[in-house]
Amino acid sequence: MRHRILKPPSVDQFKRNVLLAIIALSLLSTVVAWEVMGARGLLSPVLSGVLGTSTFVLSALFLVAWRRLLPQRAIEIGCLLFGVGICAACMALRMYSPRYGAAIDLQPLYLWIPVMYVFAFTLGGHKTSLAISMGVMALFVCISLPYLVHDIEAPYANFTLQLHLVSAVLIAALYFFSSYQHRLLLAQLAVNRLAHLSNTDDLTKLPNRRRMAAAIGAELAGFADRGGEFAVMLFDIDHFKAVNDQFGHGAGDKVLVALTARAAQVFRGTDTLGRWGGDEFVALVRGVDPEEALRMANGLCRHMAAEPMSDGHLVTISCGATVVRSGDSIDSLLQRADAALYAAKRAGRNGAESFLETVKERAI
Ligand code: GH3
Ligand code: MG
Repeated sequence: MRHRILKPPSVDQFKRNVLLAIIALSLLSTVVAWEVMGARGLLSPVLSGVLGTSTFVLSALFLVAWRRLLPQRAIEIGCLLFGVGICAACMALRMYSPRYGAAIDLQPLYLWIPVMYVFAFTLGGHKTSLAISMGVMALFVCISLPYLVHDIEAPYANFTLQLHLVSAVLIAALYFFSSYQHRLLLAQLAVNRLAHLSNTDDLTKLPNRRRMAAAIGAELAGFADRGGEFAVMLFDIDHFKAVNDQFGHGAGDKVLVALTARAAQVFRGTDTLGRWGGDEFVALVRGVDPEEALRMANGLCRHMAAEPMSDGHLVTISCGATVVRSGDSIDSLLQRADAALYAAKRAGRNGAESFLETVKERAI
């Protein structure tokens, strides 16, 4: 049975697509405005200049984003600066220059200003976005303030006041949702951290018993589904109590950490090594038959006993291994591995051969 590998969607790609869509829609709106104004004979030279510049800049931004000529963040900031700049310039012209701004219609332009705040809230963390939005709103308020103070009955006065109030409400709402999202993210990180801690052994940083049992369970499910042999090895330090009694618990801990590093040299990237508890370790060894599993277990014992650990203690281990059989459960697998380990201990410890014979008998 073939399994499709599902890749998680890329956030960067998603953000780039959204940015491209925003620029394309802005470009479309500019071209439509140009056409409509032209058809109604409302195009002044200034308006043509504004619409022409917008068309040019938006096309350039689209091309840059499409071809990835600049980093995404730079293009986003460019889009925001351009949008705010064009709105601010049109506002100033319409309010203070009867000669050049008379043909500018502020109402459709104002519709785009809330979009700037939404856009600003995609740029950074909730606090940065709030600061950017407040800065943009302050700019629009400053531009319109003399106009409003001069004549509150002016054509766009009420509309501009409403715009500022709606902007404040929108920014507050966006900040609320953005900080809520931030809290959710922090909660998710805390959950991930707790999940990691609950699956990791504190001393050796290896996967713990819970994690290893889950890994063996998953491997068993894969074996039932599509085959794929694997072995489970249990190994335990010989006479470890003596190390603790003689040199203290701290020295014993160091031996456990050193042994972890030494064991990791024997296993391959496809294998999973974990701490089963106390001085007992477990390894999930994928893609091996009984003979290979025995060879690896032997090699592991020899590798441990070859020379003292970095802290000077020479320790040996005993190891029991078993290869998966059809109908196995986690318990049945581990019981066989444990029985093999017990046999290795009884045969004199560090005793790869008794271990070999035991497992060979069981593997037949
Ligand atoms: P055997 O060869 O039969 O395995 O003898 P042993 O002395 O190693 O006996 P056993 O495996 O039953 O004892 C395990 C000892 O490991 C008992 C306990 O004091 C010690 N131990 C368990 N966890 C830790 C730990 O986290 N740190 C230290 N320093 N010692 C531990
Ligand atoms: Mg032991």
